[in-house]
Amino acid sequence: GDASVEIDVLVIGAGPGGYVAAIRASQLGKSVLVIDKSEVGGVCLNRGCIPSKALINAAHQYEAATHNNSIGITAENVKVDFSKVQEWKSGIVKKMTGGVGQLLKGNKIQVFNGEALFINENEARVFNDNETARYRFNHCIIATGSRPIELKTFPFGGRILSSTEALDLKEIPESMVVIGGGYIGIELGQTYSKLGTKVTVLEGSDSVLPGFEKELSSLVGRNLKKGGVEVFTEALAQGCEQTDKDVTVTFTVKGEEQKVTAQYVLVTVGRRPNTDGDLSLELAGVEIGERGFIKVNEKCQTNVPHIYAIGDIVAGLALAHKASYEGKIAAEAIAGLTSVVDYKCIPAVVFSDPEIASVGLNETEAKEKGINLSIGKFPYGVNGRAMTMNLSEGFVKLIGDKDSGLLLGAQVVGAEASNLIAELALAIELGATVEDIALTIHAHPTLGEITMDAAEVALGHPIHVL
Ligand code: FAD
Repeated sequence: GDASVEIDVLVIGAGPGGYVAAIRASQLGKSVLVIDKSEVGGVCLNRGCIPSKALINAAHQYEAATHNNSIGITAENVKVDFSKVQEWKSGIVKKMTGGVGQLLKGNKIQVFNGEALFINENEARVFNDNETARYRFNHCIIATGSRPIELKTFPFGGRILSSTEALDLKEIPESMVVIGGGYIGIELGQTYSKLGTKVTVLEGSDSVLPGFEKELSSLVGRNLKKGGVEVFTEALAQGCEQTDKDVTVTFTVKGEEQKVTAQYVLVTVGRRPNTDGDLSLELAGVEIGERGFIKVNEKCQTNVPHIYAIGDIVAGLALAHKASYEGKIAAEAIAGLTSVVDYKCIPAVVFSDPEIASVGLNETEAKEKGINLSIGKFPYGVNGRAMTMNLSEGFVKLIGDKDSGLLLGAQVVGAEASNLIAELALAIELGATVEDIALTIHAHPTLGEITMDAAEVALGHPIHVL
């Protein structure tokens, strides 16, 4: 029918951006409708963060059981039942998407499983195979996320996988070429390597995880090699030939042509915002900027003031917690609160082995700003907890402003970096000084003490190092 139903806030996309925005908008008294053409939870729950972390953990457990005899524990006949692993992984996804569904329902949010497209700047049509409806909205939040970039020379299908298919393999492959050594490629490549796949990584820049400083990424690079992963840096994938059994990739390293044959090629060269699809953004008058991202201001507002955009569809770190953060800001801005985004302490984590985590400024960025720095770096190697965990590789690095004493940034590489970074994000958020961290009593023996020790180093009076 053509009569429009009136709604306060229309949210398009129920990923970590959209569902969080919907809940906050509802909490602030708005009537909310969420549209998603697929399962709620978005990429993150269904084919991103959560399933990848499940596989990473399975691979870790297998590796720990099979390879690590140095503390006197040996196990025989350790096996991977990969279909069981996949079933377990799918169970987690199902539980979590079910949880999001419950949260939406409990917050009295209407959910429509279908596609949305704009008719004009105040109306959208939503439809699926059985139904179609037209909504007039006072506000809209676009949270339609991103999808894997496809290379012309490596079209997805057959033996060429995107992260989505790589997460859902039925069997552990014998061999795999990973094109793109960013965090998704490294997480998945290292996981399959630990499970027994012969993995080759082709990375265009001069190190894996090029978004991070070399002193962090080199530890991952070293460990990849130790684990039998072949890494080619400054490598350009040129093309491939497929048979029904395998695929041969041609690539060049510094102009020299090479070939590698594997059962699969996984292409992880980045993600593209879903602005070019069937959303009809132009009918709403929403402007798209560089590289297809929707342009927004500090309230996540587009050029059309009552239409907002959040998450992977706007520029910035393509991470779930960044999408959720923007979701809350957009909902609050719609409700008339003064909320604006502040990206100063958004952590970035790679669940590689060892893990990498970073928040705030790194040394290079801080130096470029001309800040007088006090830097404190402390190794896992002398920390009691790290030793008892038999995980003594890595360090915590704190970047402080010598003049104000403030903590400006932190980087961690090593076990549990993903959890250690939380304290440092909080410290920056609270405007803590490096001394505050040194003065905070950290339980003994914990990995958190490495952070305290790094602060002592930055202050120039370390206890646990000469
Ligand atoms: P999405 O999660 O992409 O959700 C968008 C939703 O919109 C989808 O559900 C889609 O169905 C729906 N949609 C799109 N178009 C329409 C339409 N026209 N009508 C109706 N619905 C529509 N991030 C982390 O922070 N930590 C991690 O460990 C991590 N690991 C990752 C691992 C992998 C393998 C991948 C691929 C990603 C990972 N990410 C991780 C990134 C994270 O998944 C994304 O940053 C996050 O999902 C973005 O959230 P979003 O809400 O912007 O969009």
